[in-house]
Amino acid sequence: MAGRDPVSFLREEYQRLVSSDLDWKLRVLEGPSAPRCVVDGKNVIMLCSNNYLSLSNHPKVKQAAIDAVRTHGAGSGSVRPIAGNMDLHSELERRLARFKDAEASLVYQTGFAANAGLIPQLVDQGDLIVSDELNHGSIIDGVRLSRADRGVYRHCDMGDLKSVLEKAEEHEPRYRRILVITDGVFSMDGDMAPMDKVAALAHDHGAMVYVDDAHGEGVLGEGGRGIVAHHHLSRDAVHVEMGTFSKAFGVVGGHVSGSRDLVNFAYNKSRTWLLSGSHPPAVVAACTAAIDVLETEPQHVRNLWTNTDYFRKGVRSLGFDTGSSVTPIIPVMVGDSGAAKRFSSRLYELGVFALPIVFPMVSKDKARIRTIMNAALAREDLDASLSAFEKVGKELGLI
Ligand code: PMP
Repeated sequence: MAGRDPVSFLREEYQRLVSSDLDWKLRVLEGPSAPRCVVDGKNVIMLCSNNYLSLSNHPKVKQAAIDAVRTHGAGSGSVRPIAGNMDLHSELERRLARFKDAEASLVYQTGFAANAGLIPQLVDQGDLIVSDELNHGSIIDGVRLSRADRGVYRHCDMGDLKSVLEKAEEHEPRYRRILVITDGVFSMDGDMAPMDKVAALAHDHGAMVYVDDAHGEGVLGEGGRGIVAHHHLSRDAVHVEMGTFSKAFGVVGGHVSGSRDLVNFAYNKSRTWLLSGSHPPAVVAACTAAIDVLETEPQHVRNLWTNTDYFRKGVRSLGFDTGSSVTPIIPVMVGDSGAAKRFSSRLYELGVFALPIVFPMVSKDKARIRTIMNAALAREDLDASLSAFEKVGKELGLI
């Protein structure tokens, strides 16, 4: 062993990723995340940010962050359970619970921290987690941290979910608890979980229901209240509604909403919450202001859907396939990974920023350009983007 370089694997692994073209090449956004922005020194139309409603640029949201720095400083000083629980954190949770029409809400540092911290506390040895095969990586990591048995059902396939739950009934010894978990909106395809059916099946089998609504909040349901509101489901039907402030709310941070029992349990048990410093005042105040904007300015969600309908119709009428998308996440199917990468580079040359999603994120023949709509995109931005898609699609012989 002596004489061997113990860290040579770092470079070797990185080089392996580079040579198989699987490494992430970071672009630099120079200035705010806005429909017209500067990426790597070039003016482009932004078609791949999660800032659905452009709230990161809303004057009220920005002002709230500035004001909070003045009144509360730059940092919180501690973890929430010790000395880092400011009045601003409690206010955000109160406002979020009201917005979600829930008994209580709990704010985590990120959505990832919510999934990774809470899932392994809800289910342990002797329990079962039943998960959609296309659930987000933060759910997968949360599941891996749990000692519960795992069942995976085919993507949005209610017949398969039913049979996994039926099989679970026969398990010896009987499972103590069962947790059914799904994304609300799936980020690669922009399709939606049949949440009403998932909840009904879980109910039939006495299972808990957990939805990750990262891409549904600010997008679906009345006023952007999310997929549970979209289906008019009750709190007894969906027990844990998880979300993020990093997408439609335009800031950063994760959260769960549900019963007071859920929140009391979650903050006392989630290690990601207990052991990690709380949000700085500017973040928390900006999140509260974003909720305020959602409650008082319904035009942003409306504009998002107007743009979504216009763009999806536009790319489809050019002859592209947008898969199963029914939300502002609109994949434009290309097929081969190499072609998807060439497509994205040509779009960038033409002033449109939209990234390719390739293997291993999706299967080898399902590479795509994933576009994400934004409420603040102007009609000219959408038309210019559609022209670029048409030009590149023809160049590459796709349409
Ligand atoms: N769940 C889903 C479905 C997501 O898309 C994301 C963000 N990529 C997360 C959870 C994590 O959220 P956050 O950015 O707040 O960590």
